[in-house]
Amino acid sequence: MKTKPPWLRVRLGLNENFLFLKRLLLDLGLHTVCEQANCPNAVECWNRRTATFLILGDRCSRDCNFCAVAHGPEGPPEADEPERVSEAVRLMGLSFVVITSVTRDDLRDGGASHFADTIAAIRRMSPQALVEVLVPDFNGSQQAVERITMASPDVLGHNVETVARLYSAVRPGADYRRSLGLLAHARRLDNRMPLKSGLMLGLGESRDEVERVLEDLLAAGCTILTLGQYLQPTSGHVPVERFVSPEEFGKWREKALAMGFSGVASAPLVRSSYHAMELYMKGKERMAGPGGPWLAHGLPEEALKVPGSLDKQTN
Ligand code: SF4
Repeated sequence: MKTKPPWLRVRLGLNENFLFLKRLLLDLGLHTVCEQANCPNAVECWNRRTATFLILGDRCSRDCNFCAVAHGPEGPPEADEPERVSEAVRLMGLSFVVITSVTRDDLRDGGASHFADTIAAIRRMSPQALVEVLVPDFNGSQQAVERITMASPDVLGHNVETVARLYSAVRPGADYRRSLGLLAHARRLDNRMPLKSGLMLGLGESRDEVERVLEDLLAAGCTILTLGQYLQPTSGHVPVERFVSPEEFGKWREKALAMGFSGVASAPLVRSSYHAMELYMKGKERMAGPGGPWLAHGLPEEALKVPGSLDKQTN
């Protein structure tokens, strides 16, 4: 595995917030993507008492070649998990909550109703809290996207992760057009909800390919973007092709803002939930006029075809 450049080395001591979170999550039997995905920001975020909850279990039904989350069979969703997450939100005193999940292709609705129940439970117990959800692609189910948008999260995120050409090597169970289709469908359902997506750089993508993804995301109605360095979790995962410099990330940030994104976080250690509240607030400030940039720009119908839709099974 490639040696990390200095800008990717993180050294921080644990503080009492970190230890509080560790104990709380253990007591409530909750998972976080911070731990399961070996996020390099875990100490920084937990020291600030923020974390991203991972619901629907800690094992993913897919086995992407970039991701450290364990793969394997999971049981049914735990019915009391939404309440336990909302209890953690209350005890942590969060005003902005990020919820994500493993992919659950084994569930009829891909876990969408469990997301909706979790949003509702948080709203009941902490009505002031804003909720961001980062959802899987639900295998292309438009009904699942409808279930999520009906729950009205304050931000709906879905990561495209990489450029279309690298999908077969990096996330073979996913489909670039399907991911864009999810965002575009959410935008058709709600033209004001902030939609967020993210990519990892350093996997072998070209500049033109990244630009094309940014154009596609904007066309799908995406408004908030994160760009960060891909880090190889183990020698069994796809290797890092190159380390992108902080300066290059800075240029991508300027470029993405100029192209029309309302909020952009672009730096080597950025992950989709990194400083999520700050990014949401910045994006909101930049919203210009009624309707603002949340409005869809119109994706060609061809681009919205949804391969492998779960709806065929659930109708
Ligand atoms: S960036 Fe997100 S996943 Fe990583 S530690 Fe922070 S909250 Fe957790």
